[in-house]
Amino acid sequence: MQGETAPQLRAWVDYFRDLGVHDFYRRGGPAPLPAIEAGVERAAESAPDADTVQSATNDSVLGDQAPVAMEDDASLPEDTLITSLLQASYAVPQPSQLLSFNQLAPLPAAPVPPAERAAALRAIQEEIGDCTRCPLAYAGRHTIVFGDGSPTARLMFIGEGPGADEDKQGLPFVGKAGQLLNNMIAAMGLKREEVYIANIVKCRPPNNRVPEPVEANTCSQFLLRQIDVIQPQVIVALGATAATYLLGVRRSLSTLRGHWHTCRGAKLAVTYHPAFLLRDPRQKAEAWKDLQRVMAELGLTPPPKKQS
Ligand code: URA
Repeated sequence: MQGETAPQLRAWVDYFRDLGVHDFYRRGGPAPLPAIEAGVERAAESAPDADTVQSATNDSVLGDQAPVAMEDDASLPEDTLITSLLQASYAVPQPSQLLSFNQLAPLPAAPVPPAERAAALRAIQEEIGDCTRCPLAYAGRHTIVFGDGSPTARLMFIGEGPGADEDKQGLPFVGKAGQLLNNMIAAMGLKREEVYIANIVKCRPPNNRVPEPVEANTCSQFLLRQIDVIQPQVIVALGATAATYLLGVRRSLSTLRGHWHTCRGAKLAVTYHPAFLLRDPRQKAEAWKDLQRVMAELGLTPPPKKQS
């Protein structure tokens, strides 16, 4: 593809993807796989069997099922909480499998106390290390973008994956989309430091493409543990990719928006990705409706308008 056609096509694909339209059909035979996709295929072949995982179809609404709590062990001493959280067994879905975060693992036996959450997050980050568990490690990433914000946040935003700015700085949502997210957070009467921000994948996909299932599925175990440590009251899924993997369903954003879902004991709302809102600012009013529902749930009131 030459000249301006490729970026234009890419922009349209992004636009539809943000709306939750994932499947495109190409006339003729399949396109040859670029090297990175071949790598994904190889990783997929060697992925472990998920025989502990209940199989789910892409159409299931199991994402809305309550997570299964592990046996309540009241005698668990506090200093073993972090260890038990890190050692909990997580199902590794097969690359093509779409499982909700509720299906991936039981809820922890006991919550991590607020004072221990920062240390628990550090332990997860250390375990990730200089990760090479999925093909994104070999696809040009510079920095692993773990997550940012308060370990005791009541509100968590989850996006898709780091872009170029995030890959450089090692922090989520620090580029143009991040500036809009910061404005959205401020409009809710919160500071960025009061919420927690993370992504479905922690490494930048090449050319900001959508993470492949094997990449998202490999990374999920860590995001899931971050959620379990932080125990937010509300999670906001930013865009279709975050909603798809968190809820384990491939549905359009218009179907998913406007309803409460559940994820790891939190209420989950779906809204537009800030990058989509930058491309189509007419949808900002709709996104604001989504955030107002979240504010009502958290008992937040917007800050008074500044006098001019
Ligand atoms: N888009 C995302 O989904 N996440 C980021 O961190 C930045 C842009």
